[in-house]
Amino acid sequence: MKLFRCLNCAGESRERGAGEFAAESGVCRKCKLSGEHVVELECIHYDPPSGVPGRGMRHAACDDKIKIGQYGLMMTGEPSAVTCRACMKSPVWKLNAALCGLPTTPATLDHVTEPPTRR
Ligand SMILES: [Zn+2]
Ligand SMILES: [Zn+2]
Repeated sequence: MKLFRCLNCAGESRERGAGEFAAESGVCRKCKLSGEHVVELECIHYDPPSGVPGRGMRHAACDDKIKIGQYGLMMTGEPSAVTCRACMKSPVWKLNAALCGLPTTPATLDHVTEPPTRR
């Protein structure tokens, strides 16, 4: 599974994850465009904080067998830079992303509901 961003669907949106999708090939499910309209994203894992300032756990939040130092592997301690879908589902990423003020709920679900009014 690879990560892609459809530039057509992302448009001018600054919203996190806009136009992004995971698939085997870079054909947008929504608008069916491919080629120059779709860019492949690198998979960047989240390296959770270890408790020592400036040091992470040195393994991915999604899988502790994915360790820093493996060829071609990208990892960051900055929650906003993470693109790995599995890391973004981990409680440790959600907690740290929330502490940084990032939305951890998809925009489509992130709305305020009013309590029912009594008649
Ligand atoms: Zn699209
Ligand atoms: Zn990951």
